[in-house]
Amino acid sequence: MTASVQNSSLNRDMLSRMDANDPLAPFRERFVIPESLIYMNGNSLGPLTISARDRMATAVADEWGSQLIRGWNKAGWYDIPWRLGDKIGRLIGAEAGETVVCDSTSVNLFKAVAAACGLRPERKKIVSEVGNFPTDLYVLDGFKRFAGDAFNVDIRPREEIADAIDAQTAVVVLTHVHYVSGEIFPMGEISRLAHDAGALIVWDLSHSAGAVVTDLNGSKADFAVGCGYKHLNGGPGAPAFIFAAKRHHAAMSQPLSGWFGHADPFRFTDDFEPADGVRRLLCGTTGVLSATALEAGVDLMLEADLHAMSEKAVALSDLFQRRAAESCGGHGLELRSPDDARQRGANLSYGHKSGYAIMQNLIARGVIGDFRAPDNMRFGFSPLFMRYTDVFDAVEILRDILESRSYEDSEFSKKHSVT
Ligand SMILES: *Cc1c(COP(=O)(O)O)cnc(C)c1O
Repeated sequence: MTASVQNSSLNRDMLSRMDANDPLAPFRERFVIPESLIYMNGNSLGPLTISARDRMATAVADEWGSQLIRGWNKAGWYDIPWRLGDKIGRLIGAEAGETVVCDSTSVNLFKAVAAACGLRPERKKIVSEVGNFPTDLYVLDGFKRFAGDAFNVDIRPREEIADAIDAQTAVVVLTHVHYVSGEIFPMGEISRLAHDAGALIVWDLSHSAGAVVTDLNGSKADFAVGCGYKHLNGGPGAPAFIFAAKRHHAAMSQPLSGWFGHADPFRFTDDFEPADGVRRLLCGTTGVLSATALEAGVDLMLEADLHAMSEKAVALSDLFQRRAAESCGGHGLELRSPDDARQRGANLSYGHKSGYAIMQNLIARGVIGDFRAPDNMRFGFSPLFMRYTDVFDAVEILRDILESRSYEDSEFSKKHSVT
């Protein structure tokens, strides 16, 4: 790209033309987003879809309200974990019958790690990354305690992960797209390293599903988990998903063996007999209303082209980075993400010593990102509803806040419980 083309692409009129020509632009109307907001947090809580709003209203009034218990059979409630799991599977490179929707990501991670360790009973080492999403590390710690401290949980910086995987390693547990930096692990390469050492791999796709082209089977992944309320737009606390490659189904088991993971829950027998296939990873009853909202979010996503979405997320994030470098230089912003937009998912972070206050000031001005301790301002790029001009306008507001130092106002340093 020549310098002149690059510069002209930073011009708002040109960005406006890019929005007008963007094949994904019509999707914006399918969301409920106040016109005055620039929402850069779809990576943390995806916005409400019009279809989720309508489906939820029907599920409450017509299904719960009038079908009552009959809804389990008549309204498709019973099938939702695997019906919706198969739909999510299409976004992450899984085959039908390899993914179910249930529980939270944390709980699913526990089940996946336990199932994977159970397939490598002679090995007692689990490898993960320093600075992985905290719940992932806490769950590994809990699993180790649950297993009577028999496991060594080896947490390494990214550049040492390959060396840490050895003949004692049962499982490697990594997050595909880092929650702060957005850095992407090369899924195929790490999976191969794990398999060459005889270990299994568990991927956390919380920041990947619906944002980054992900090919679980193409990379021979063993297990995966991920969030429903982030890029999949399932709503606050939406259920999560769990994937297991078909080759493991017959031998795998997991300790949260509740009745929904039973071969025939309505036989009501005293003994646990695992369901065939991925359903044995279920535990109890799924939150049907939440799963209904998630299904609407996923159905919308399946209408879009995932490659086009991923390309647009890269373009939006690259635009933000270039605009910020051009107009916010000299204000102490420190890029905490890979410099090349192709090496990060749909989120980008900057460190700043007043990062919390600056983010609160941005939010007060209608630019919603979030803050991740100790000092990271995080911005998400959701290709289905964000416009190129939104990115331009967000950086202009950021520049104004930095130049005027309006973030120094004490109202912006009040700490909220959720950052
Ligand atoms: C958001 C996120 C989670 C969230 O876990 P919950 O159990 O849904 O609260 C887990 N892992 C990663 C990598 C995340 O980004």
